[in-house]
Amino acid sequence: MSLLIKNGRIITAADDYVADIFIEGEKISLIGKELSIPAGQTIDADGMLVMPGGIDPHVHLDMPFMGTFSSDSYETGTRAALHGGTTMVIDFVLQKQGHSLREALTEWQSRANGNCLGDYSFHMAVTDFNEHTRQEIQTMITHEGITSFKTFMAYKGALMIDDRQMTGLMQEVKKQGGMVTVHATNGDMIDYLVAKHKAEGKLSPLYHYLSQPEVTEAEASARFADMANYTGCPGYIVHLTCEGALNAVRQATRRNQHVFVETCIQYLLLDASRYEQDFDSAKWVMSPPLREKKDQATLWAGINQGLVNVVATDHCPFKWEQKLMGKDDFSKIPNGHPAIEHRMELLYSEGVHKGRITLNKYVEVTSTNPAKIFGMFPRKGTIAVNSDADLILLDPHAQHTITAAGHHMNVDYSAYEGWELQGKIKTVLLRGKVAVNDGECLVEKGYGQFIKRHKVSGKI
Ligand SMILES: [Zn+2]
Repeated sequence: MSLLIKNGRIITAADDYVADIFIEGEKISLIGKELSIPAGQTIDADGMLVMPGGIDPHVHLDMPFMGTFSSDSYETGTRAALHGGTTMVIDFVLQKQGHSLREALTEWQSRANGNCLGDYSFHMAVTDFNEHTRQEIQTMITHEGITSFKTFMAYKGALMIDDRQMTGLMQEVKKQGGMVTVHATNGDMIDYLVAKHKAEGKLSPLYHYLSQPEVTEAEASARFADMANYTGCPGYIVHLTCEGALNAVRQATRRNQHVFVETCIQYLLLDASRYEQDFDSAKWVMSPPLREKKDQATLWAGINQGLVNVVATDHCPFKWEQKLMGKDDFSKIPNGHPAIEHRMELLYSEGVHKGRITLNKYVEVTSTNPAKIFGMFPRKGTIAVNSDADLILLDPHAQHTITAAGHHMNVDYSAYEGWELQGKIKTVLLRGKVAVNDGECLVEKGYGQFIKRHKVSGKI
């Protein structure tokens, strides 16, 4: 099977030029001007931006949580991702305290394997670091191709590890060639504020926001950076939202340390005024919460300063009836919002079209950096000979509007209802196959492959 893409404007993190792309099987085999090679299929990309498929390194599909599951399965979630130009996701396996990493991986594989339309990988969340866990790290990296280990500095008694475990984990992960990623918020401070607000009868979604002030994230981000610096372990902060936390990372650069930073599309585009509504605010109950306008400005600047490396989603959808579990108590609202389908088009429209970031930067933070940071480059994350033919064709002149009725995620509302976007992804290729064309999905579940990742250095 061969495919020729003609006359597209090819954008990578570094380049911008018009050329043809010849694909054989799953790989790009030739890039050049006016190629005349017989091909099984030819796509005219005149006027289109041709960019690497999006990689969303922070999603939660079919995740058990508070007695329920996030509402997108691996099938519906990866299908929605493909519709929006994201050809690969990295999901999270959660170790149960008192149990092994292997048990958790087996459980997650039973839900994911054979059910994905797009490519996928896992981060391993370590919630109980002990001698047995320590011995499992090497196998995860070398045999399973799982090279990133997620930690929580919050959610005591369920997911949180203390600083003693964090230090031990970092030393082992560094030794084996992996990376530690973190949900960096001060769990004890948040637990205190949640309990205080509840005792005072303050139960609306607004108090979810007021229980996680900026300082809880800034403090934990600085502490994480310090521990990563001491151990020499590559570190990555997930869903960073605010100026205080980014300043902690900025401070770390003064000792020539780089901690990778991921923000999510919602923290760039939405602010805490969403919590001033009635229970409708529950649509945006997530942790950390949405922040202030000044934090949005800091994050956009952080992208251009090279401090914010990745724009992900933390996609974790719950249907409205699930959100209603917290109708009378903000602490019982399932945390998370749906975004896996819209990240690429939202960031193009609000970022590139509105002049906040360049096209090259767009590719860098949506695809190239996730591939480099997590050990998949150059197979993923760029347009080059021998790379996987994971491509999107974006029409910069097309406009469209986001609605719950029109999206493909398994959730009955949209966090971006009525947003009018400039630029539409028309065609999506995954490993040489047209996966989506003009709104029609052309691959079946099971097409998505688990991608084993290689060791990482902490440098990109
Ligand atoms: Zn998450």
